[in-house]
Amino acid sequence: MAILIDGKKVAEEIKLELSLKVSDLKANGKTLPGLVAILVGDDPASHVYVNSKSKACAQVGFISKIENLDDRISEEALIDRIKYYNDHNDYHGILVQFPLPNGINEKNVIEAIDKKKDVDGFHPESVGNLVIGNDSFFPCTPYGIVELLLRYKIETEGKHVVIVGRSNIVGKPIANLLLQKRKGANAIVTICHSAADDLTKYTLQADILIAAIGKPNFIRGNMVKENAVVIDVGINRVEDKNSKKGYKIIGDVNFDEVEKKCSYITPVPGGVGPMTIAMLLENTYKAYINLTKN
Ligand code: NAP
Repeated sequence: MAILIDGKKVAEEIKLELSLKVSDLKANGKTLPGLVAILVGDDPASHVYVNSKSKACAQVGFISKIENLDDRISEEALIDRIKYYNDHNDYHGILVQFPLPNGINEKNVIEAIDKKKDVDGFHPESVGNLVIGNDSFFPCTPYGIVELLLRYKIETEGKHVVIVGRSNIVGKPIANLLLQKRKGANAIVTICHSAADDLTKYTLQADILIAAIGKPNFIRGNMVKENAVVIDVGINRVEDKNSKKGYKIIGDVNFDEVEKKCSYITPVPGGVGPMTIAMLLENTYKAYINLTKN
């Protein structure tokens, strides 16, 4: 049976570490790290995400604010609000919750965020810095995966990591992070996507398999090498008549089949998911340190 990688526990450890740093700042009469989340419209899922980010800030003692804007806002007015926070000394991190309403260009919005406050790591300059190995803000979910591997002392050096999925928020950045020539990375990386004719041919080669596909139970037991490490990024809502809500959340990996074969596995929920918010807090703290160091 595989060892469960407990992302919930690691995320709590990270939050505790950050809250101790905040206590130090308070004891020394310093300003505190601040995060502003800009939310456009009434999408219920976006509200849930933003509220949990704000709750996590409160838990570690960061200042946080949710700026909820009307979904009829123009792109120009939204960018003006971002610029306001770019110049605001109380907020060291800015995040804009996606998706945005039709008619607003996400690319223009991301580029309007001051790269020193780009705690989601989506600004093209952050992405470029990640690719060339410069210090940067790393997108939170991939950053969380690297942190889980590190804290579970899972060797990545020289290991073959196979990633299924090439999105800009998960697949590509995790590939670039694990490719870097440094501790906790230095892996041999393969990225697969929907053009793969025989996906199993690739996944069976993985020492570490990362599934970021968005399809429930997609990775089956016969697609995984004995003793591989399996990281399930997927968050899929499926019907569940036994649950009060009528649905449950499952991953991209068929957990029951795969955990019999692999050495380590992240559960869904409770694996990669909680790490995303923890790393957003880490990035906010980093932005705070960089912006206040002089
Ligand atoms: P995405 O943008 O939809 O990308 C999915 C990727 O999977 C694409 O590259 C796609 O290939 C590939 N794919 C789809 N079907 C495939 C197939 N049959 N064979 C091989 N590759 C296939 O999704 P995403 O934003 O990366 O998210 C992936 C999953 O992670 C979702 O369930 C999402 O909810 C979850 N997620 C979780 C967190 C977290 O905090 N835990 C954060 C972000 C995302 P093409 O490029 O060829 O279409």
